[in-house]
Amino acid sequence: MTHTPIADKNTPYWWEAAPVKPVPRQPLVRDVDVAIIGAGYAGLAAGLVLARAGRSVVAFDAMNPGEGASTRNGGITSGSIRPDYATLTRRFGEDTAIAVETEGKIARQFLYDFIKTEGLDCDFKLVGLFKGVIGHDEYEKTARSAETLAKRLGIEAYAVPYAEQQQYIGTDSYRGGMVRTDIGGLHPAKFHAELLRVALASGVTVHAGTRVISVTKDGSGFEVVTEAGTVRARQVLACTNGYTDKALPYLRRRLVPVRSRIIVTQELPPDLMAKLMPKQMMMGEGKQLGFYYRPTPDGKRILLGGRDSSRTGDPDAPKLLLRRGLVDLFPDLKDVRLSHSWFGNVAMNRDMLPRIFEKDGVVYATGFCGSGVVWAPWVGMQAAYKLLGKKVERRSAFDFQPPASVPFYNGNPWFMPAIIQGYRLQDRLALYRAKR
Ligand SMILES: Cc1cc2nc3c(=O)[nH]c(=O)nc-3n(C[C@H](O)[C@H](O)[C@H](O)COP(=O)(O)OP(=O)(O)OC[C@H]3O[C@@H](n4cnc5c(N)ncnc54)[C@H](O)[C@@H]3O)c2cc1C
Repeated sequence: MTHTPIADKNTPYWWEAAPVKPVPRQPLVRDVDVAIIGAGYAGLAAGLVLARAGRSVVAFDAMNPGEGASTRNGGITSGSIRPDYATLTRRFGEDTAIAVETEGKIARQFLYDFIKTEGLDCDFKLVGLFKGVIGHDEYEKTARSAETLAKRLGIEAYAVPYAEQQQYIGTDSYRGGMVRTDIGGLHPAKFHAELLRVALASGVTVHAGTRVISVTKDGSGFEVVTEAGTVRARQVLACTNGYTDKALPYLRRRLVPVRSRIIVTQELPPDLMAKLMPKQMMMGEGKQLGFYYRPTPDGKRILLGGRDSSRTGDPDAPKLLLRRGLVDLFPDLKDVRLSHSWFGNVAMNRDMLPRIFEKDGVVYATGFCGSGVVWAPWVGMQAAYKLLGKKVERRSAFDFQPPASVPFYNGNPWFMPAIIQGYRLQDRLALYRAKR
């Protein structure tokens, strides 16, 4: 019996228009100012700042540049922070809570300005984000949080009652929602390709398919051993996020890679797209394991993402789970075929905050917790300013102590299935309460 694939291709939809590829080979320069490990958004953005400041910069990537999360993501410019304001205040104090939230606003705006001033051709549109809620209590809470966002940060946000929901989304799955106008969508692989273009033009040397094997402090600098040879670097910046390997054992004990999966539909008829996504907004939901979804930049398909988890070990199960989620939201899509499905790694840490920190002289820019379209370029650049010793107007709220290590963990996230199960249970309970 032949097996009909769930999706036509197991590679990112984004690679059709912007394929990942190696950069032309360069001779290995043996002595540099800065060696960067990882050439995703964070590594390239940092390289750009450093090269423009006159530093000699070499970036190594074990894969093709961008082949990590930076060309695999949903392209939603969320810049979210997982812990809410109350949790941040409880854990770090009110000043930090305000600084973190303010930085989200600044970083989002920075990204939009950066795309414009650098002329990055990446299909960016500031279309807004609709977040659906599942019950009346949650709607009330969401409406209050829209008010707070507007009051505290001046972000335009408003609640959408159930009666008006269909103007935003053609589903009956929610009991209203909230709109934020400061979030949009871009083509993540085009954005990465454009970032690579300007980084190379600024003088960053990128070595693709060149894994860094070890980093050792050596007098006033570092000995960086790579698959292509050894380099001496005055400074080292680690931008490996969800793909961190044994070369960076200190970081590995502090970051948990979590697989995230996306599915994309075949092209849909224009009238169906107009019914399901009338405003072509980015979409999310207020659940622990909620989906995020959006139209593709040409407005012809729907892309939906969520956790890549399976209790059975069946490799098709995570794709089917997302497909079921899509059809639950939009029953009109019950017979739709999927054109693409793929996964990538995001990186969580214990307090779920992005981070810039230094340990034994190596600077790290990492921990974007699934929201790196805004955070990775921003945090990468802030880390570059740190390396330059540059006085900045306001120090990043994420520049503080390293995240705590995860107990009994050395790179194999054996505990993730239990955590995901716990989240699933919380979502089921919330749904049960909403239906009572
Ligand atoms: C499926 C999915 C959907 C997502 N959706 C969104 C979204 O809609 N919005 C959003 O804001 N964020 C989203 N994200 C998160 C976002 O993509 C990431 O946070 C961001 O791309 C991280 O960028 P980075 O440069 O830090 O890391 P990456 O792009 O992951 O790059 C890290 C690089 O380090 C390299 N590396 C690792 N170890 C070594 C070594 N020893 N030597 C050399 N190179 C090494 C890897 O090869 C890799 O290329 C999503 C992520 C995934 C996977």
